[in-house]
Amino acid sequence: MKSLVEAAKALAEGFATTFNHLFRRPVTEEYPEVHRVLPARTRARIVLTLDPDGEERCVACYLCSAVCPVSCISMQSAEKEDGRRYASWFRINFARCIYCGLCEEACPTSAIQLTPYFETCERDILRLVYEKEDLLVQHQGKDKEYNFYKVAGVVTRLAGKGEHAREEKPVNVKTNLP
Ligand code: SF4
Ligand code: SF4
Repeated sequence: MKSLVEAAKALAEGFATTFNHLFRRPVTEEYPEVHRVLPARTRARIVLTLDPDGEERCVACYLCSAVCPVSCISMQSAEKEDGRRYASWFRINFARCIYCGLCEEACPTSAIQLTPYFETCERDILRLVYEKEDLLVQHQGKDKEYNFYKVAGVVTRLAGKGEHAREEKPVNVKTNLP
């Protein structure tokens, strides 16, 4: 008799839960008709950004490529007339990328950034290999102000740190010490 009462109670609780849910607003989103706005920090499609002067941020230092756990970034460094380095080509194989964000963390110039855009599916896997022209965007991404040459700079065959065009003397970290 006791087990019968317990079974009836459990059944009633189950029906009560179902009944309560009948009056709740549905939370299902009808993707792809409805696009949820994802947070800016979402890790999806990768881009290469420009600095506030409109110059390519990437200095082809290979740090992103070295840190990438699946080795999907490759590039070739070259030197401009002003002595600064850039990537003559830059390639990401999105078929291998696991969107871990380590490349963005490692980048000293804030060039490589992950964005919330995730609709990059392709039937042909080779179309997931993106070249520099596919990756470059005409804005600064999440980091609007940062300009590597204004806080660090580089030594080139033409000049020392802070002595090139649109460059400032690097920050002396010792002046920040207490
Ligand atoms: S997000 Fe991770 S896996 Fe993708 S390119 Fe960057 S480091 Fe490599
Ligand atoms: S870490 Fe940044 S600056 Fe260095 S090669 Fe990668 S994208 Fe370019």
